[in-house]
Amino acid sequence: MPSTPCEPLRKQGYQFFSPTSTAALKPCLWCKRALQGGDMCYKHQFYGIDSHRCVQMTPTLRCNQRCLFCWRSFEHEPREEEECPPETILAGIRKFQKKALAGYNAVLDNTVTDERWKEALEPKHVAISLSGEPTLYTKLPELIDLFHQNGYTTFLVSNGTNPAMLKKCNPFQMYISLDAPDRETYLKVCRPVSDYWDRIQESLGLLGKRRSAIRITLVKGLNDYAPEQYARILQDSGATFVEIKGYMYLGYSQNRLARENMPEHAEVRSFAEKVASACDYRFKDENTLSRVVVLEQKQ
Ligand code: SF4
Repeated sequence: MPSTPCEPLRKQGYQFFSPTSTAALKPCLWCKRALQGGDMCYKHQFYGIDSHRCVQMTPTLRCNQRCLFCWRSFEHEPREEEECPPETILAGIRKFQKKALAGYNAVLDNTVTDERWKEALEPKHVAISLSGEPTLYTKLPELIDLFHQNGYTTFLVSNGTNPAMLKKCNPFQMYISLDAPDRETYLKVCRPVSDYWDRIQESLGLLGKRRSAIRITLVKGLNDYAPEQYARILQDSGATFVEIKGYMYLGYSQNRLARENMPEHAEVRSFAEKVASACDYRFKDENTLSRVVVLEQKQ
C-alpha cells in the first residue's frame, strides 16, 4: 500500500495541501493552454470562467463509487489519515497553484504573456471537481463559505450520493452527476459501494431552487440509451443547466473501457437533442473539441 499522499499522483502533478490528507489541486490542461494564449475550456464559453484563473481541486480523494469512466486509479487508493482544515486549504490555494504552474512562468515560456501569468497567480474561481467525492469531506460547507469570503466563486461537482451534506452547501453553482437513466445501469456503470440511486434522486431534487447543473457523461454502448428516461429525471430536478458530455478515453479509465466507448460529438449532440425534445430544456451551446452540449431550462 503506498504512503499518503499517493506518490503516483504526486508524479502526475498533484499538489497536496498537507502531508496527512488527500486534499489536493492540479491545474487542468485548459488552464495551461489558456496561459499560453490558447483556447479556454468550455466553462469559459458557457459560463464565462477564465481557465487560467481557475483552480481545480478537491478536499478529499476518497470516493464511494468506482465509475468505469473515471480517470482516477482504483488500484492506488490513497489513504487519508486526517482531513485537511479549510483554513489550510485556503492558505495553500495560491501557493500550490503557483508551484504547479511554475513551468509556465512568463520568463521561462515565451508563449505566456506577463499579463496572463500575473492573472493566473491571482485565481478567481475554484472548481471543486478534481477527483474523489467532495461531500465525504465533513467541513465542505465551511470550506465553500471561506472561499466566497475570500473573493472566489465556486463550482461544486458531486456524484449526488450525499444529499444531507449537499443541503448544507452553498456554492455559486452546484453540479450533480447523473450517469444512468435507471438504477440497474447506475449500479453497472458507477459501481457504488452501496446502492445510492435513491439518494442521487434526492440530491437532484435540490437543484431546482438554485443555480445548478446536471452532468451526464455519455459512454457509448453503456448508458447512451433511454433519452426519454433521462429527460423525465431532468424535468423533475428543475436544474438550471444540463451538460451532456462524451466520455474521454483518458487516464486509468483506459484499463476499464475501450476507445470505441467514446461517442463522437455528433452522437452526443444527437442524444442531447432527443433528451431536449422530451422535456422543458433547450439547446444552449456546444463545444465540439470537448464533445459537450449544454441545455438550459426553458423560462
Ligand atoms: S464519482 Fe467521480 S471521482 Fe468517484 S469514481 Fe465516479 S467519476 Fe471517479
